[in-house]
Amino acid sequence: MRSQRIVKRRHYDVIIVGAGPVGGYLARKFREEKFDVLILEEHNQIGRPFQCAGLVNPKSMERVDAYETVLTPIWGARMHSPSGISVLIGSPDEIRTWSVCRKLFDETVVKQALEAGADILLSSRPVSAEVKHDGVELLVSVKGEELPFACKLLCGADGAHSWVRRTFKLGRIKEMMIGFQIEVTGYPGIEGRLDMYTGEEVSPGFFAWAIPSGETTRIGTWTLPDRLGGRSCEDLLIRLQNHPLWKDRFADCREVGRFCGPIPAGMIQRPLAERIAVFGDAAGQCKPTTGGGIGKGFEAVDRLVPALADSIRMDDLSADRMYHLTRLLEPMRKEQARSKALRDAFLTESSDKELDEMFKIWARPDVTALIDEFGDIENPIPLGLKMLKDIPEFRRLTAKAAKALIWG
Ligand SMILES: Cc1cc2nc3c(=O)[nH]c(=O)nc-3n(C[C@H](O)[C@H](O)[C@H](O)COP(=O)(O)OP(=O)(O)OC[C@H]3O[C@@H](n4cnc5c(N)ncnc54)[C@H](O)[C@@H]3O)c2cc1C
Repeated sequence: MRSQRIVKRRHYDVIIVGAGPVGGYLARKFREEKFDVLILEEHNQIGRPFQCAGLVNPKSMERVDAYETVLTPIWGARMHSPSGISVLIGSPDEIRTWSVCRKLFDETVVKQALEAGADILLSSRPVSAEVKHDGVELLVSVKGEELPFACKLLCGADGAHSWVRRTFKLGRIKEMMIGFQIEVTGYPGIEGRLDMYTGEEVSPGFFAWAIPSGETTRIGTWTLPDRLGGRSCEDLLIRLQNHPLWKDRFADCREVGRFCGPIPAGMIQRPLAERIAVFGDAAGQCKPTTGGGIGKGFEAVDRLVPALADSIRMDDLSADRMYHLTRLLEPMRKEQARSKALRDAFLTESSDKELDEMFKIWARPDVTALIDEFGDIENPIPLGLKMLKDIPEFRRLTAKAAKALIWG
């Protein structure tokens, strides 16, 4: 998607920085509220570069109806413990998530905003912005030329290193993981089933993945920087590919692409300020359990846009009003804290030996049945709670998780 209509206006109701999936969805939602919307994108095309394993959960897919971007429907997983105990979950009867072409997905979402009437400027980024009593004044670099713009509300959907968040000092992301991924041909996976690998050597505290994506497979790993111990994520992936248990699977792989990027999964305290709002990665909204950020970014848009639209109509985007609206994100903040507590208890704070013990339990047919019934990529909390409650061997984890589960 390279073309853009000629933008002559300088005043908009809403200006959105960033034409990623969240910026595109946000623009469409504000257009549905009948506001004039401009999107600024610093690259000269949509969806490049991207850092993503390309998984879009069913609820998010319903929101944008972008099924034509699907490469492989994912219905199950093969999870591997550090010493090689495998657990198979899922059944082809139920699609759990969609593996998409991420460039096409971003293009589709942004196109929906443009078709709804939003304007876009490619090769454009804000240089400065100042909040005045009646609006925000911006200087925007458009293909190298600096032009003045103004809006009532300025939104940042500009990713993990958000310019809007930093410029308006909206706070720090509480947990920032790092992910590294290669795309390969020749991986002998199972159609519709992703592989997950655990263990200190390949993904300390987290997991590595192999995700079917049409003709290719996306193989990646993620962790916290302070768990790397002098290694890089690329080192971890090389270890996975040479691991005595798994190296045969990687023997015929040929790399066709590589991606590396941050995964911000700790919501900032102040995503809203006077005439300013940030969404998606810019606000630290990724899921601590999977690293998925598209679904949570969409959810934040759905939670905030109706109230922000009312505020624009009432011409009240004051600091007080925006502080008040921040409460609409409280359920997301709590869910993020609870998911993190469960992840820490079951995965991040477990040694390889403890993980092996857990996999032995997960491999039991009664527990696999529980995972199949309650497992939900979008919301792992019910399954986590059920395991803590129903499986005696997991009760010792309850104390670890309890505080954040109750108060998070
Ligand atoms: C290895 C890896 C794998 C991942 N896998 C998944 C997955 O499978 N599923 C999932 O849901 N999430 C995944 N994520 C996370 C996901 O990629 C992000 O959460 C998602 O892209 C966030 O969307 P966004 O629109 O908020 O930000 P982005 O996708 O980062 O989009 C931001 C946009 O803003 C533009 N921009 C930035 N700064 C400026 C500026 N100053 N001016 C103008 N434009 C600007 C950028 O060019 C970009 O187009 C993964 C992340 C990594 C690193």
